[in-house]
Amino acid sequence: MAARIGSRIYDEAIYATDRPVPSLWEATAGPAPADDGALEGEASTEVAVIGGGIAGLSLVWHLTRRHGIEAVALDAGKIGWGASGRNGGFVSMGYTKRSLEELSRSYGGDDARTVFEAQKAACAYVLDLVQAEDLQVDLAGRGEYIVAHKPDRMKGLEAKSAAMKAMFGEDWPVLSRAELERAGYASPEAHGGIYVPHGTGLHPLKYTYGLLSLARRHGGRVHPNSTVVRWERDGGGHLLHTASGGRLRAKTVVVASNGFTTEGLDQRFDGVTLPALSTILVTRPLSLEERQAQGFTTDVPVADSRNLLFYIRLLKDGRLLFGGRGGTNSTEAAGQRYADYMRRRLGEVFPAWKQVEISHRWRGFVCLTADLVGRVGLFPEDRSTGYLFGCHGSGVAMSGYAAKFLAAQIADARFNEPFPNCFRQPPKRFPMPSLRVPALQAAYAWYRLKDEVLPA
Ligand SMILES: Cc1cc2nc3c(=O)[nH]c(=O)nc-3n(C[C@H](O)[C@H](O)[C@H](O)COP(=O)(O)OP(=O)(O)OC[C@H]3O[C@@H](n4cnc5c(N)ncnc54)[C@H](O)[C@@H]3O)c2cc1C
Repeated sequence: MAARIGSRIYDEAIYATDRPVPSLWEATAGPAPADDGALEGEASTEVAVIGGGIAGLSLVWHLTRRHGIEAVALDAGKIGWGASGRNGGFVSMGYTKRSLEELSRSYGGDDARTVFEAQKAACAYVLDLVQAEDLQVDLAGRGEYIVAHKPDRMKGLEAKSAAMKAMFGEDWPVLSRAELERAGYASPEAHGGIYVPHGTGLHPLKYTYGLLSLARRHGGRVHPNSTVVRWERDGGGHLLHTASGGRLRAKTVVVASNGFTTEGLDQRFDGVTLPALSTILVTRPLSLEERQAQGFTTDVPVADSRNLLFYIRLLKDGRLLFGGRGGTNSTEAAGQRYADYMRRRLGEVFPAWKQVEISHRWRGFVCLTADLVGRVGLFPEDRSTGYLFGCHGSGVAMSGYAAKFLAAQIADARFNEPFPNCFRQPPKRFPMPSLRVPALQAAYAWYRLKDEVLPA
């Protein structure tokens, strides 16, 4: 029986860390690299990280390699059990749901610009890392298309492209419907779009496994199946108890558990995250002729202009990956109902594949925060406790880059790359934490209205 983890604002089924995730990634990643097994007995380290996903593993790697600081990651499941092993593989600009204009209003123009610079740097960071460490992660497609799901959404995309030019001197080309089709993307729900020249697509579990090896290369330790169930202060430091019978003493603890964050361990992390479900369907491999008949042949990742967006990729063996929100009910039955809905929508977005066989479907949690901005830093009044979460649905790129920043903070070293102040603020509690799911339901209803009914 798996230890019970999670914020408990959702059904238990979604927190079963002993239940394998039936993803295409699990089926195709190959064997996991060696790890350090479940933590048992007494151990100590300088930095303990709760969460062994892209964020936690990257932090262990940067601490040990760059700063010579001993670090240990603890994960409740196998490595890659969380979002890191089950995402869409978009390496994209993220870690916030707020637009640059909104960030500018809240935090000032300079910090909004720094968010943008950091997001770009995070995408480049992944590409550089993959190349430098020769990670075999099935890189596919450069950049990303954002497509207008209705004709009147083109105005907003054109404005975005113009703003990128005016603010950053960047070219984010606008494509008409015909140009988009020539580039290899045709759908009744694509009326043109823009091309974002940053990011790529990859196999997320292979990437996570690559990080697992890197995390251990310089003496870092990674313990799967080691749910932290109690967190005590021990003299000047911390003592973490795991369900596997381990006790880990550490000078510093960092919470890097994103949408799966456990509440009740330390009140500073209670009510500060809102996990939100995301669902992915993958089809059988589609032949080149089938792809040409539908008009979808590009391997550049695609997202649409909805608030509750669909994210779409053609994978290297010709499979279609079709992702979107996952509703607000995490029971198995609701998961099936939502997958049926996604199946229908897939057939509307790609009429040629209305009946196509779905080979894999799965879901997992992304992580929202109260002000829709990620959190990376050390508490100003207690620099022995850190936070590294809040992906807002796109953390593959930023989680590793942010870990590099946080490692420098822990080491008291300079960080000479862009990193926004708004990400560094301590986590904020949701105003009424017990109403997080109903609040999300209300937000979804509003966004659905904006996406599907109201004009732009
Ligand atoms: C379906 C889906 C699709 C997504 N698609 C994309 C995408 O295409 N592009 C993108 O950029 N992002 C995407 N994301 C988000 C992305 O996966 C994450 O931002 C990224 O993986 C970073 O994850 P992480 O390490 O912060 O968290 P996770 O990978 O979720 O790791 C957190 C870990 O914490 C562990 N944990 C929780 N509580 C405890 C405890 N008490 N003790 C020990 N361990 C604990 C969990 O077991 C979990 O493994 C997607 C997410 C989902 C779910």
